[in-house]
Amino acid sequence: MTTIQGDGSVLKTRRRVLVTGGAGFLGSHLCEQLLAAGHDVLCADNFYTGSKDNISHLLDHRFFELIRHDVTFPLYVEVDEVFNLACPASPVHYQHNPVQTVKTSVHGAINMLGLAKRVGARILQASTSEVYGDPEVHPQREDYWGHTNPIGLRACYDEGKRCAETLFFDYHRQHQVPIKVARIFNTYGPRMHPNDGRVVSNFIMQALRNEDITLYGDGSQTRSFCFVSDLIRGLMALMESPRELIGPVNLGNPHEFTIRELAALVIELTGSRSKLAYRPLPSDDPRQRCPDISLARSALNWDPLIPLREGLTQTIAYFDSMLGKGGWARIGNTGE
Ligand code: NAD
Ligand code: UDP
Repeated sequence: MTTIQGDGSVLKTRRRVLVTGGAGFLGSHLCEQLLAAGHDVLCADNFYTGSKDNISHLLDHRFFELIRHDVTFPLYVEVDEVFNLACPASPVHYQHNPVQTVKTSVHGAINMLGLAKRVGARILQASTSEVYGDPEVHPQREDYWGHTNPIGLRACYDEGKRCAETLFFDYHRQHQVPIKVARIFNTYGPRMHPNDGRVVSNFIMQALRNEDITLYGDGSQTRSFCFVSDLIRGLMALMESPRELIGPVNLGNPHEFTIRELAALVIELTGSRSKLAYRPLPSDDPRQRCPDISLARSALNWDPLIPLREGLTQTIAYFDSMLGKGGWARIGNTGE
């Protein structure tokens, strides 16, 4: 679909968009919203942590295509835009096979940047607040260089994502590839994997089953939780922003909560009989995390709209209905 603009130039309103990691939590919501916006979506995923269940409702859509592909290998397709989301995101998942995690971030970035360079596509990297490590600056602004441990258990993810950012900026400087780098902060919502070990999914599953809520450390560490619909809106706004806005741009909800406060809210909203159970803090667990989103606010006119209470209510309803339906029988299998 094309539109002739006032100056005679042609604007493609239906763009061919590749979403790597499109069968994952964020990727599946992104594919949905891109289709709703009238685009032609190609989802590439190796189903390492994602699932066909997440996108089964899209398979009959005439502008949706799915390919099984591992981004550590080159991909030859013709597209106008690439959202590079392929990468396990939860500590349990990315530490399961750390070498593969590094390869996915680094080789994946090289392959997808190579594709963007060849076909002249815009490419957006799903980077992360983890590039700030255990931050000494609070809240985190994009000009903070971070405080990461290059040899710790989280390094496969943190340093992999940092190297991917380096590659994005070098392809931009050296080959003029039009890049966009989003630094995503903790995001939650329906289609999170119930066994991914992330705090929101863990607490909700534990609360729904009236099991102990596992608080790591004393629960005073903080995170800021963004609901998935807000985050996807931010990613799409960044991709559509003027070419000069390359980022990095923080995307996240600036309301900060302790993990203990999150546990209390989940217990309240589920009406659970669960008790708190304290467990050792994992190594290199960041003490505090909260985005400064001034740049996203001014450059993208973006602000998260969904408060934690409302987003959790929707997420709890999703997990509850999946449990009721006997969903996730596949957990522990290949994710397909
Ligand atoms: P997810 O695990 O649900 O999705 C990742 C997807 O990538 C899965 O479908 C998985 O199968 C796929 N994948 C993994 N390795 C692959 C490979 N080598 N080739 C092809 N596909 C591969 O995680 P998510 O929460 O949806 O995260 C998506 C992206 O956003 C990731 O890059 C993650 O680092 C980033 N991110 C997410 C958050 C968050 O809070 N959810 C925060 C910061 C950054
Ligand atoms: N956490 C917790 N109990 C859990 C899972 C996580 O207390 O069952 C804590 C974890 O130690 C961290 C925070 O919750 O301080 C967020 O963890 P998550 O794995 O969701 O994300 P990340 O650490 O990558 O932000």
